[in-house]
Amino acid sequence: MKRTLSLAIFSLLIAAGLAPSRVNAEKPNFVVIFCDDLGYGDLGCFGHPSIRTPHLDRMAVEGQRWTNFYVGASVCTPSRAALLTGRLPVRNGMMSARRRVLFPDSKGGLQKSEVTIAECLKAVGYATAAVGKWHLGHLPPCLPTYQGFEYYYGVPYSNDMWIDPANKLADDIVIRSGLTRADLEKGHKKRNWVPLFRGEEVIEYPADQNTLTKRYTEEAIRFINADKDKPFFLYLPHTMVHLPLAVSKAFAGRTGRLIWDAIEEVDWSVGEILGAVRKAGIADETLVIFTSDNGAAVGSSLPLRAKKGSVYDGGIREPTVMWWPGQIPAGKTCREVAATIDLLPTLAGLCGGKLPERKIDGLDIWPLMSGRAGAKSPHEFYVLMHGPGTVRSGKWKFYPWKEGRSGRRREKQPANPSPEPVQLYDTVADIGEKNNLAGANADLTRRLQAAYTAHVEEIKKNRRPTAAMPRKKNASSAQRPSQGKKKPNPKKNPKKKNAAAN
Ligand code: MG
Repeated sequence: MKRTLSLAIFSLLIAAGLAPSRVNAEKPNFVVIFCDDLGYGDLGCFGHPSIRTPHLDRMAVEGQRWTNFYVGASVCTPSRAALLTGRLPVRNGMMSARRRVLFPDSKGGLQKSEVTIAECLKAVGYATAAVGKWHLGHLPPCLPTYQGFEYYYGVPYSNDMWIDPANKLADDIVIRSGLTRADLEKGHKKRNWVPLFRGEEVIEYPADQNTLTKRYTEEAIRFINADKDKPFFLYLPHTMVHLPLAVSKAFAGRTGRLIWDAIEEVDWSVGEILGAVRKAGIADETLVIFTSDNGAAVGSSLPLRAKKGSVYDGGIREPTVMWWPGQIPAGKTCREVAATIDLLPTLAGLCGGKLPERKIDGLDIWPLMSGRAGAKSPHEFYVLMHGPGTVRSGKWKFYPWKEGRSGRRREKQPANPSPEPVQLYDTVADIGEKNNLAGANADLTRRLQAAYTAHVEEIKKNRRPTAAMPRKKNASSAQRPSQGKKKPNPKKNPKKKNAAAN
């Protein structure tokens, strides 16, 4: 057996109020399961009354729920960049002013010189794999295999996008729907038809989305079993529950709502992963973290305000569960503020990994994870520049803009917005962020405004561009399929509700 204190010693330490400070000289396995567009209120263990998530509920009973856990942005690409690099998306170049996420015709991606969790861990002997949605660049040099992942299997961006004809097709590619290899090489494209990759090649087109959750799970378990005798890092960013929703036969029609079916299948997947870890006999040396990239698109972010795309809590505060028998105290809830940017320094700290030399924004949250008495959030101010911006500090959430002016068209605005020029909410007394207390807390508001301004000035000085993704000469255009075509008459063809493209 690799590493770690025994459960008995751990229990004694906890009883004595002494959580382990560090698992020195050990190399635990790390599994990060990153759901897509799952809302704060979408799990049984976070209060959903109907969706059945028994595996995540059990994970929470055996592990730790985090109720103030944030992501780095309220949409896919910058949120993923933040998790993997420990750096806020403006700093790491993955927050574009023009487009909020990458598309198949984007010309850039994550800089190769950014240091990801995978690179950090690989350098100290870890086997690394990414299984699922990448969305940080779909051509070399931006693919997972250039960012520390030895193995990649998945869809390179959101499942409502299309194929880029510049992608390399595998010799044994499976092509569905009556298409031929020549069709793809000539530049065929269609919305919601996405490629499935293994390594750097397309192995299936269009990807059968109904079986993606199931196949990601099988790939992940294969990796766990193959690498259980050495330390491993598995990054499992699910394609679900991003639109268009799809489920395998076993989950279709279970609840009467496709979004609920899809969440239940993700929960099944978590159960399979934890089951594989237990079966391999490595539960006491494996840390598993479950969270999501941004708030609900279709599901529920309740009781939080707003959903995906917003910097109100419903867009960026995620249902998070951490599990590590014998190291993370069971059945506890951590209410301190932490974020996905903290994973890189925390995981690196747990295995003796070297932190990147460039500045990172994340901080070590092991004292909170291990339940150390009196441990507090390391973030005095958690600041996001995404959209119109926000600051979380202790229980306070500050917005340097007037209510009703978020600039987000889809966001439901209150009937009577506060007249204050900025917003301040007490997230403990008012979790739904309804009562603007800015007027009654002038000093605090000034301090939070100053923190926001200082952050923006610093990060703007240190921001970097996205990496260029050179395309092959003469490659067909990757522009979105609808471009350049005659617009249909909306009266003759009532437009279907469009899938969210981020
Ligand atoms: Mg997302």
